[in-house]
Amino acid sequence: MPLTPRPRVPRRIRAALLGSAVAVCLVAASTPPAPLGIGDRLFPYLGNPGYDVSSYDLDFTYSGDNGKPLKAVTTIDARTTRDLDRVNLDFAHGTVDSVEVDGLPAAFAEAGEDLVITPATPLPGHSWMRITVHHTSDPVPAKGRDGGWVRTADGLAMANQADVAHLVFPCNDHPSDKAMFTIRVTAPQGYTAVANGLPAGARRAAGGTTWTYRTRHPMATELAQVSIGRSAVVHRGGPHGLPVRDVVPAQDRDRLEPWLAKTPDQIAWMESKVGPYPFETYGVLMASAATGFELETQTLSLFEKGLFTDPAYPKWYVESVMVHELSHQWFGDSVSPRVWSDVWLNEGHATWYEALYAEEKAGKPMEARMKAAYGASDRWRASGGPPALPKPPKPGQKIGIFRANVYDGAALVLYALRQEIGRPAFERLERAWVRAHRDGTAGTADFVDLASRIAGRDLSGFLKGWLYGEKTPPMPGHPDWKPTPAPTAEAVKK
Ligand SMILES: [Zn+2]
Repeated sequence: MPLTPRPRVPRRIRAALLGSAVAVCLVAASTPPAPLGIGDRLFPYLGNPGYDVSSYDLDFTYSGDNGKPLKAVTTIDARTTRDLDRVNLDFAHGTVDSVEVDGLPAAFAEAGEDLVITPATPLPGHSWMRITVHHTSDPVPAKGRDGGWVRTADGLAMANQADVAHLVFPCNDHPSDKAMFTIRVTAPQGYTAVANGLPAGARRAAGGTTWTYRTRHPMATELAQVSIGRSAVVHRGGPHGLPVRDVVPAQDRDRLEPWLAKTPDQIAWMESKVGPYPFETYGVLMASAATGFELETQTLSLFEKGLFTDPAYPKWYVESVMVHELSHQWFGDSVSPRVWSDVWLNEGHATWYEALYAEEKAGKPMEARMKAAYGASDRWRASGGPPALPKPPKPGQKIGIFRANVYDGAALVLYALRQEIGRPAFERLERAWVRAHRDGTAGTADFVDLASRIAGRDLSGFLKGWLYGEKTPPMPGHPDWKPTPAPTAEAVKK
């Protein structure tokens, strides 16, 4: 949400600008609506130019039937960054009933995965606009397009990463445009709704209860979470009074409690590594669903309940996955990627703290894991691209951009950096990174710059090979590490 104050434009020039905007509009309005994007290399049609969202107000009404679309109203407050005769939002997989811009009815059309809105009068640059969209939000997946709503055994949850928030609500669906969220959910009696941030009231009525939640920090659309279910909300205190609340199926509450109880110590452990927890609350959402992944939705991470109830998973592994999602609250959520090619900064760091926790708490050596990653790294680069230059997702492939090259392949880059600059400098870098970019967005070049500043020397040459090379460079301090031919299992999204 980079809202920078801009100088006021004098009235006379403003009138002239408005005049030219109208002229442009007359030309532009005759062209058919077209989908736009902000030029993300991996998702060219995500995001839209010309405005900066400051807040979303999402209002969902759930019927209790997972086969039926939810009624929804999405209200967006945004600042235009230039004159606009049309406003593109990302939205697909719902029916739009009406659109208003600044309280006046506006024309709208679908184009690709965009909702193209034509306000009654063109919008001047550097001004506020409020867009209200009355629409439906369909929990039944689009053909060949998973994601957005996740249908659970007792309701719904959300999994929008990387590019499917706009299957749920109209938005500027790119992590470079973070905004504040108010989320309101009305559900029949017997259901409980929980969303990102802290509760801001619950209102009971004959038809059901309306819950309201509000974030205290900006959030990317991909990190929105709405849980509706026959849930128990379990409260406890975290470090220095941080409110921790977990959301679990009510019937499983006692069985899951030993896992829930681990979160405060995990938060304290992460704080000892990188500094204060960046948000107003945390907790885990354990959903009765087979997603095949866990997801770091802001302040309320989504987990498959089966991770905790299936005895096939060793205790140390489950705990390290919990720490993986927790560490994303710093790396990926508080500091969001500027473009999706920066996803290695999310997953590399989350894998790093997952592995470090396993090393410190369960005696699983980081060095052994990194040696194995080194062996596979050339193969990962060949199949998924170098860590900071991942290959575009293949259409219809569930794994998308979340391949081994951005998990252990990217943790290996951090390991190489620690080998190169030493542990004390590396630990200072990690703390400085989350402090410098808290509540913001940052990319690969920012990380290279900060690493160089902390180390007191230019690391761009060293990191270029590690981040962008087709082949994995030699590992500092381990000249004996070599690529290995043995096949390894592909990592799955965590
Ligand atoms: Zn992750």
